Amino acid sequence: MSSRRDRTISRRALLATAAAGSVALLGGGAGPAEVHAGDKGSKGGPFELEPLPYAKNALEPHLSARTLEFHHDKHHAGYVKKLNELIAGTDLVSQPLEKIVVAVSRDARKPIFNNAAQTFNHAFFWKSMKANGGGQPSGELARRMAASFGSFEEFKKRFHAAAVGLFGSGWVWLVTTGKALEIRATSNADTPLTEGVKSLVTLDVWEHAYYLDYQNRRADYVSRFLDHLVDWDFAARNLGA
Ligand code: MN
Repeated sequence: MSSRRDRTISRRALLATAAAGSVALLGGGAGPAEVHAGDKGSKGGPFELEPLPYAKNALEPHLSARTLEFHHDKHHAGYVKKLNELIAGTDLVSQPLEKIVVAVSRDARKPIFNNAAQTFNHAFFWKSMKANGGGQPSGELARRMAASFGSFEEFKKRFHAAAVGLFGSGWVWLVTTGKALEIRATSNADTPLTEGVKSLVTLDVWEHAYYLDYQNRRADYVSRFLDHLVDWDFAARNLGA
């Protein structure tokens, strides 16, 4: 999914950060498939926190640098760190992240599931946004959206309603079942990864994702995501169209 160029840029960012003496919880790769075991981080665990695919202030004024700083450097980093602690010495330590999520969703290892799924979900979420995103998708994605929802406006309405209507913490996803596009709302760490459907984009609706910028106004946050942040090119690449 990621190009060699993406990897090169990430690797360069990693080296630059390491040279600057920053926390070396960084990894290469551009897609969730690249959040994998094997690239040993200097922190000792098998998984590394991927750097954000843009500068911390790149999504302003819709999401502040302060929000991204806490959300990525504290929340997301915390899930990665905890995951590494929980899988150390287990049979999971050599497995790719996606396999861990699916495997532990079926047994009693709930803490591992929560941290593995949140590691995956956040990496996917960062790539679901870009500066000057939003607007309407084009090409095959637009065609399938119209076929599945009737129109792009109808999709937006339903996605917004799903995000606002989700009680408590969770995620809203646009997924493809292979035939149709669907909107899924998942609670807490739950992820469509365990349902065998392919995710195209996701929106984090945990309060930590928007509270500094929007306080209780989740509806405004969801509108900004749809109008200014969502990366339809990322969705199209995930669709394979
Ligand atoms: Mn989050």
